[in-house]
Amino acid sequence: IRCIKLTSSQSLHFARCFASSANIPTTKMFINNEFVESKTKKWIDLHNPATNEVITRVPESTTAEMEAAVAAAKAAFPAWSKSTVLSRQQIMFRFQDLIKKNMKRLAASITQEQGKTLIDAEGDVLRGLQVVEHCCSITSLQLGETLPGIAKDMDTFTFRLPLGVTAGITPFNFPAMIPLWMFPMAVVCGNTSVMKPSERDPGALMILMELCQEAGFPPGVVNVIHGRHDSVNFICDHPDIRAISFVGSDQAGQYIYERGSKNGKRVQSNMGAKNHGVVMPDANKESTLTSLVGAAFGAAGQRCMALSTAIFVGEAKQWIPELVERAKKLKVTAGTEPDADLGPLISPEAKKRVCDLIQSGVDAGAKLLLDGRNIKVKGFEKGNFVGPTILHNVNPKMKCYTEEIFGPVLVSMEVDTLEDAINIVNANPYGNGTAIFTTNGATARKYTMECDVGQVGVNVPIPVPLPMFSFTGSRGSFRGDQNFYGKQGIQFYTQIKTVTQMWRGEDAVSSRPATNMPV
Ligand code: NAD
Repeated sequence: IRCIKLTSSQSLHFARCFASSANIPTTKMFINNEFVESKTKKWIDLHNPATNEVITRVPESTTAEMEAAVAAAKAAFPAWSKSTVLSRQQIMFRFQDLIKKNMKRLAASITQEQGKTLIDAEGDVLRGLQVVEHCCSITSLQLGETLPGIAKDMDTFTFRLPLGVTAGITPFNFPAMIPLWMFPMAVVCGNTSVMKPSERDPGALMILMELCQEAGFPPGVVNVIHGRHDSVNFICDHPDIRAISFVGSDQAGQYIYERGSKNGKRVQSNMGAKNHGVVMPDANKESTLTSLVGAAFGAAGQRCMALSTAIFVGEAKQWIPELVERAKKLKVTAGTEPDADLGPLISPEAKKRVCDLIQSGVDAGAKLLLDGRNIKVKGFEKGNFVGPTILHNVNPKMKCYTEEIFGPVLVSMEVDTLEDAINIVNANPYGNGTAIFTTNGATARKYTMECDVGQVGVNVPIPVPLPMFSFTGSRGSFRGDQNFYGKQGIQFYTQIKTVTQMWRGEDAVSSRPATNMPV
């Protein structure tokens, strides 16, 4: 490697490839209710982000394996879509119970592969579990509409029917929650599913497949394939896949939305974010600072709803030194350590990218109030750690503002008025989430009505809706027509059939053919 001149990110990539070993356990696929070893020659080493040890090898499924998964899903669809809604509900009850019982095991897998703290990993599972619990209400969620008497002896009603084979492509940052946004909603409506998890942490989804087996899903209803671009292209192009759910970065999300739509599929695509927290001088200082620190640095900032930009309005800027002091106190270590507040970033490449973005802010004139780049974590010296970092006096042209950093970095700004803050938020292309901290109802109302963002929190730093609502990121953070879970999720995974029927006694039957439209 030393003979060839490589960029530092290329060197990191090579180091990872050579670290692989034949004795490492492999991650299986799940096809037709069986765990299947891939015959591929292409394997991806998966590293524990806290130590960089290889813990499993993930296959890039071959075309034949991916075809087998879609064929299983297609074969399962006729019987599954005709199963009674009550029988699907019963399986969901069992599935949700099994997830609860396996919460700690799922969380341990997430912490090992993704790096977040164990307690945060349980939160990851819980937020997915809540979607499964919501799916248990399918008997009322999938109701159609009826209007009797739309003409003489005539009634119209609608059914919400499944589409067929659906697919889900997921990111690394919520290895349980985001797959659970997808396949439970799809299958409880009577669809079948082929999932393609992030190649960086598929372990939680594989445990969920064991639980699907135990819950009694029939073979082929849920399947899992693995890989990167080839598997994504396969899903976008396969004629038997009717709908694609995607969550991940802008680059992949726009590509999948366009390629899938071009092939006639429904696509819902949740993408990147830059979420602003607006701090008014009348806010409750204690709860605002606590909220900001938790929402900016929790999960090492690797959340699409992380509050990664703070806008201090007027005198609220006086709280900045205290914010820095609180951020300094967070404990950065492996997610398995009991006192960890934040764990490592997913990969050395992610760490390098985050550090480069911090430096770009410094070079552009931002003030580095807290620098987490050179943190040393005792016992985990090889991990991808970055400590809490605060860049102040950032302006909207700086790269550290225009790009999603996806690390434990808070960029902050000072403005004079609420209008100034709203203008900044609305000029940003993303529309995932935002929060305002204030004790004034009129200020809160003005902000919620005038900011063009899909999810707004008032004194709530990460306003992710529970599954009786939908996850409604907007503008640059979303492509599609129907959002994830809740009512919109049901609409995404169903199509409507409208039936108009006439039942008329023989005495009322006319013998004259109707050749004209009724007037
Ligand atoms: P990613 O886009 O790198 O990966 C997501 C999925 O797409 C993976 O399964 C991956 O294999 C595949 N993929 C990656 N690059 C691809 C490409 N060029 N072509 C085709 N497929 C590709 O995303 P990530 O790094 O795993 O996740 C982090 C991103 O996800 C962040 O931008 C974050 O904001 C976003 N995210 C958004 C939401 C939301 O609801 N809006 C939720 C979680 C994460």
